[in-house]
Amino acid sequence: MLFKELNLCKCKTYLIACDVQNQAVLVDPVLENIERYLAVLAYNGLKLIDVIDTHTHADHRSGCTLLSELTDAKIVMHRLAPHPLVDVHVDEGDELKVGNIVIKVLYTPGHTPDGIALVLDDRVLTGDTLMIRGTGRTDFAGGNPAEEYDSIIEKLFSLPDETLVFPAHDYRGNTQSTIGEEKQKNPRILGKSKEQFIHVMENLGLPLPDKIQEVLQLNQTELDDDLYELPSIAELNRIFQLEPNEIKTFLGQSTPQVLIDVRSEAEFNGELGHIEGSILIPLDKLSENIEKLEKYKNDNIIVICRSGARSTTAAALLTGMGFENVSNLRGGMLAWNEAANK
Ligand code: FE
Repeated sequence: MLFKELNLCKCKTYLIACDVQNQAVLVDPVLENIERYLAVLAYNGLKLIDVIDTHTHADHRSGCTLLSELTDAKIVMHRLAPHPLVDVHVDEGDELKVGNIVIKVLYTPGHTPDGIALVLDDRVLTGDTLMIRGTGRTDFAGGNPAEEYDSIIEKLFSLPDETLVFPAHDYRGNTQSTIGEEKQKNPRILGKSKEQFIHVMENLGLPLPDKIQEVLQLNQTELDDDLYELPSIAELNRIFQLEPNEIKTFLGQSTPQVLIDVRSEAEFNGELGHIEGSILIPLDKLSENIEKLEKYKNDNIIVICRSGARSTTAAALLTGMGFENVSNLRGGMLAWNEAANK
């Protein structure tokens, strides 16, 4: 196996390659370093088969979309990831094969709802859930300290103590650790109950990362187009979030509800299906369809996507365009289908 960290800085991208079958994956590639990755792959004679984001990043633009376009590598993310172009949605226990190497997926939410860790024979890539002597912040982008605690204690800490730990970030110049070391020395977790951990995480008082809303929303939506000015966090937070059962109740009433689905056509007709009567207007086509929507300006509009992130952006864009009553299906079609199956 060939294993390398390619950015050589605080933000980590890992190359995992099988040197028998010359297949490779990149984990958490950064957009601005793509030429470097392609050079390393070419230098080693490797075919890139998958690009994997361990979670939706808020600190850098993901390189997954462009790498996938340039190399035909498949984009792999957790099933809750909002990114519109994921080819392979994975979940707890799934396995990815890179030549002779098997990568096992652990679902490790907490830093974000779509966090995964990648387990190889002797090592684990922990994303931003468990870092060296630290843990990923949980104060934005759907973060949840209780979930992070469970991900670390129940999943990552049940790996053998000698398992090497490779996080997605390190701010102190560390390159690797082990599960055993983190159990003994990680100050965020050592000797802390779940309640104490939650208290610590809720009181870190860290400033939000620069350009967070652009980076996060671009990674969630891939809406990289000068036509759109992405909504601010305040505008996103003002969008009314509706639960699936609330929408079902509304649909049964006489007041008209306009359902706008902002996913791609492939997703609209894909495995998650769509809500009967919903109008398909992919997020990147919103502005060219605005005339078509004019007649709904004073109606109740509910926006829908896969996981609820892209549609919140769309709802805020529509609100900014003068639509009066726009709300969002919280959790998207994933939540809708889950509610239907209960
Ligand atoms: Fe992160």
